[in-house]
Amino acid sequence: MGRATVARNDHGDDLLTYDYGPDLLPAPGGPLDMWRYRDLLPIGTGSVRYPLAVGGSPLLCSPELADQAGIERLWVKDETHGPSASNKDRATALVLESGLRSGASVITTSSTGNAAIATAIGAAACGVRAVIFVPDDCMPSKVELMRRCGAVVFRVRQGYRAAFELSRQASAELGWLDRNTGVNPLTLEGKKTVAFEVWEQLGRRAPDVVILPVGDGPTLVGFAKGFNELRACGAVPRVPRVIGVQATACQPLVRAWRNEPPAPEDPAGTAADGIAVPVPSIGGWTVDEVRRTGGAFVAVSEDELRAAGRILAGCGVDSEPAGAASYAGLRRAVRDSLVASNEEVVVLVTGREVSLTPASASNGAVFTIDADLGEVLSRMGGVDLPLPT
Ligand SMILES: *Cc1c(COP(=O)(O)O)cnc(C)c1O
Repeated sequence: MGRATVARNDHGDDLLTYDYGPDLLPAPGGPLDMWRYRDLLPIGTGSVRYPLAVGGSPLLCSPELADQAGIERLWVKDETHGPSASNKDRATALVLESGLRSGASVITTSSTGNAAIATAIGAAACGVRAVIFVPDDCMPSKVELMRRCGAVVFRVRQGYRAAFELSRQASAELGWLDRNTGVNPLTLEGKKTVAFEVWEQLGRRAPDVVILPVGDGPTLVGFAKGFNELRACGAVPRVPRVIGVQATACQPLVRAWRNEPPAPEDPAGTAADGIAVPVPSIGGWTVDEVRRTGGAFVAVSEDELRAAGRILAGCGVDSEPAGAASYAGLRRAVRDSLVASNEEVVVLVTGREVSLTPASASNGAVFTIDADLGEVLSRMGGVDLPLPT
């Protein structure tokens, strides 16, 4: 089992570490899912309780996509096949697995959309109540899906950062399980498993470059942590360069990377809602991690996002704009000479649009509120919802 120790990083964030060595790596063979790495995850012994299948996403080799980006060797890690069609499923699964072991009955998170959908679907499957906080401009179809999964959804008028603070406050005062990305170290632990899979799917080696979209930061930091752990276990000699991608309309970490002062961001100005985060929860850590790998940050326009989505779709990979941002970022990075044509690259396609499922019996509720815990409590008092089944 994972013998995890909690440390603090330079930014004051919790960071789990293990007694690294080759004995923590899985033996070759066996089913590819996230639990095969449980010696590098902080869960105890005994069978896994989380009921949904997570991890083991395909790593696709696409000469056509490589060609359209101007490189020779490209792999697409297609993270859109999980229960909620985004990479948020990994973090959700680990937080809920740990919560089930400690008897949690309510889980909360804030989200631009996808973490919330993953939490609503995962919690419903576990018989746990999900209480979700989203910015009030969250896509209506995503909010409706959460409600149909039985979640109680609060649309917070003051935006995502306020939704994040309110979810954390509710967790602290009411004892709810806190799945907030970045602050719960298990979100990184869950997300790092995608790096282990890439390593195994490449035949137990590292690519030269990995490109992924960045919102709050845990997808990138988790990926880098995964490869750092593989190195610490003696599995790879070095960590790949990591390139983070943001949308031009909302690019706080691109600015930080370039040592520019913060500027107003327009999260509603991009279709890539999953990465439209003006104040990332672990932004400083994300920039440091990119520096340590010798990587970079790039920004992509709405036109570049649309073109990337079209090209991916033409090669059979469905994506939402945030999910396609990695491929758009690859094309930009090649044009900016950040990636050479003979390097081996992996892009992470992190999500695709989810379609609405028919209304289920266990409907939740949706409220639009100001960022105030009193309002949350009075609204919750007015709903007597059975737990989702
Ligand atoms: C959340 C999300 C991201 C960014 O992940 P962070 O861990 O917040 O940086 C990228 N793509 C999609 C589809 C997402 O839902």
